[in-house]
Amino acid sequence: MKDSCVWAEIDLSALERNFKFIKRQISPGVKILGVVKSDAYGHGLLPISRRLLKLGVDYLGVGNVEEAILLREDLNSKIPILILGNILPQQAGSIAKYDLTQALCNMEIANCLNREAKRRKKTIKIHLKVDTGMGRVGIWHEDALKFIRNLKKLNFLKLEGVFTHLSCADTDRSFTDLQIRLFRKLLKKLKDEKFQIKFQHAANSAGLIGFKNSHFNLVRPGLLIYGACPKDKFIKRFDLKPVLNLKAKVIFVKRVPPGRSISYGRSYTTTENTKIATLPFGYAHGYPRSLSNKAKVLIKGKRFPIVGRVCMDQTMVDIGREMPVRIGEEAVLIGRQGKELIRVEELARLAETIPYELLCSIGSGVNRFYKS
Ligand SMILES: *Cc1c(COP(=O)(O)O)cnc(C)c1O
Repeated sequence: MKDSCVWAEIDLSALERNFKFIKRQISPGVKILGVVKSDAYGHGLLPISRRLLKLGVDYLGVGNVEEAILLREDLNSKIPILILGNILPQQAGSIAKYDLTQALCNMEIANCLNREAKRRKKTIKIHLKVDTGMGRVGIWHEDALKFIRNLKKLNFLKLEGVFTHLSCADTDRSFTDLQIRLFRKLLKKLKDEKFQIKFQHAANSAGLIGFKNSHFNLVRPGLLIYGACPKDKFIKRFDLKPVLNLKAKVIFVKRVPPGRSISYGRSYTTTENTKIATLPFGYAHGYPRSLSNKAKVLIKGKRFPIVGRVCMDQTMVDIGREMPVRIGEEAVLIGRQGKELIRVEELARLAETIPYELLCSIGSGVNRFYKS
């Protein structure tokens, strides 16, 4: 960390706090599937998963087979791992080999999985993915019952779960309620036909905090675990602790008289004597160019504006005339310094995107350091 100019500090005690917060939101019988896809939203798949395991997470959710295998090989645990994304037929063997659970929504893959399970004398657990209004992968809710009846013939598959995904639990109450109603209707039919399915689930982070009736007996939080909130309105109410802190060291400072333009495109011109500090980060580190002339950074516990365009790996900050700032001074782009806090939600709003996108793009390109 000492030698890095730009780095991310991943605070695992914050992760613990957020996990405990989630526990308080759900009823005692409800289990938690921690979503760690996309390298744990840029926080690092393995360290995050190891900590979640220690905290007693019941299930882990990944995006693809590769992530699932990494987890299975590293964790030394039988924790169930659900692959949320679809797979190709040729990946069915890995599902069997590594004892993974597959989200399923087509018969061709079901047949492949069944064949692979039979070959290895195992059963493969599957969760049926039902589309109640996401309009992405998943089998339409009105076709799900028939599909499940057909699955019965595949003796080496165990239908362990049935789930749906909410498309707008952060923005549209009535559509979300409709999705939940459609899902319930299916569950009722399954019950009438005496299907016994261990897990029913629907809630992502927004569902978890906004719709108690979406919890069923398993919830699938992602963003909340990382201390960000899918809905700005809830940030104050819930006191989630950001896990990722993005920091950089000042690499250059100079005095600038009035009337000088700063950075590419001359989008900013100084109006008085000031000092401009350069920080060695930019869009190559996942800090969006759209934050040019909008975002603030923290130096010595105060907020200072980014001026001019964010470059590939350099960004300028107006620190005012008086501040004694040296090369090597620590600046915070996301996270806390003194009493001030810059949340990823704030940057997402300014960049006109969502915290998910920022976290994923920042995480991968920047050295990460973990503190517990
Ligand atoms: C990514 C994902 C989640 C987690 O969503 P958050 O909004 O981050 O809580 C839950 N379920 C599925 C199916 C997902 O793909």
